[in-house]
Amino acid sequence: MKQIPKSDKMQPVRSDIRGPVYEESLRLKAQGINVLRLNTGNPGVFGFGLPDSLRQALLNGMDKGVPYCDVRGLPEALQAIADYQNKQKGFPNVSVDDIYIGNGVSELAQMAMTALLNPGDEILVPMPNYTIWSNTAYIAGGKPVHYLCDEQAGWMPDISDIRSKVNSRTKAILIINPNNPTGVLYSKDVLLDILQVARENNLVVFADEIYDRLVMDGLTHHSCAALAPDLFVVTTNGLSKSHIVCGFRSGWMVFSGPKEHAAGFIQGVHQQASMRLCSNTLAQVVIPAALADSEFTQSMVRPGGRLLEQRDATVRELTKLEPLGVSFVKPCAAFYLFAKIDAKRYNITDDTQFCLDFLREKHIMLINGTGFDWPEPDHVRIIMLPKVDKLSKAMQDLGDFLQGYSQK
Ligand code: PLP
Repeated sequence: MKQIPKSDKMQPVRSDIRGPVYEESLRLKAQGINVLRLNTGNPGVFGFGLPDSLRQALLNGMDKGVPYCDVRGLPEALQAIADYQNKQKGFPNVSVDDIYIGNGVSELAQMAMTALLNPGDEILVPMPNYTIWSNTAYIAGGKPVHYLCDEQAGWMPDISDIRSKVNSRTKAILIINPNNPTGVLYSKDVLLDILQVARENNLVVFADEIYDRLVMDGLTHHSCAALAPDLFVVTTNGLSKSHIVCGFRSGWMVFSGPKEHAAGFIQGVHQQASMRLCSNTLAQVVIPAALADSEFTQSMVRPGGRLLEQRDATVRELTKLEPLGVSFVKPCAAFYLFAKIDAKRYNITDDTQFCLDFLREKHIMLINGTGFDWPEPDHVRIIMLPKVDKLSKAMQDLGDFLQGYSQK
């Protein structure tokens, strides 16, 4: 029979959080082995329950989820998002017509990249990077060009590296803040510097702010759209993380700043949103209640909150592994930590193999740093979602494993 190969545009696409290490974890599970899966930021599988506010809104509003809704979304959900972005995040007065609700930020990223990029067009994306953005850029025929986030500088984006990578094909820059996979929050000054590069070079700014409410240590998140009301900014956000309902697939995209010159791009997004009629309506029913319930999210990140305690436990245990060549930048947002492992010391040339070896020996699944477009085989991403005991034990197991490890 004639072979059916995958299309050329899929060749560069990688999604390691569902990749080879994940596949191996499924094989182990099928053999009856219990694997601690620290691969996806999916709080619902680690005992985080549905917030009562959302449960109630869903029960009360279920009937509204039956028909298709408007292409942009349910009016009350759009209004709640506009209020949130304008009043709480200081956006320059966006209206409900500037918002598209999607089946998660993932779907909206695909629409945005398809609407923006022609073959050969470039978008600057962070390195390391949550790969939905580079993947959707590739599929759209564009070219993601990576700018360095510098571990030595607390994973802050390197402005001179960004500047050096702008050329006549560069159409946009992506900022993920708070960041996945590093778990850091960018300061206002760093954001202003990046936005200045965008301003000087007429770049569209993509601001993925899905973790904006999961900020710890009394720090404040600044939205790009608020810092640069003179720039066209495409902000994405959603409920997957702040209200732990990843499975609902509920996200949004907001256009702000001057829009006249972006009318073609916006039309391209609108065409795609129309093609799929609407986003899952049932998941939109809970958006107003979720955005009114900041207490649920806050309770996870303040002293005594689960996410904060789990972050502290991870940091405590990993610090003990420093003599074994493990180092890291302490995260202050979201629930990720991007740890460096001394690759020379353990002869690691293939970080996927490293994660497979760890998985087979300790039944714990971490994701290799190269899965986040990191160029060296010397990092792993840790998800700090299990409860403190489990997480602490997992970090101790990593230490045990390293003591006997040398990659073959
Ligand atoms: N953006 C970032 C930075 C993420 O980390 C994730 C998921 O982990 C997403 C987007 C995807 O979000 P959604 O569940 O809304 O598709």
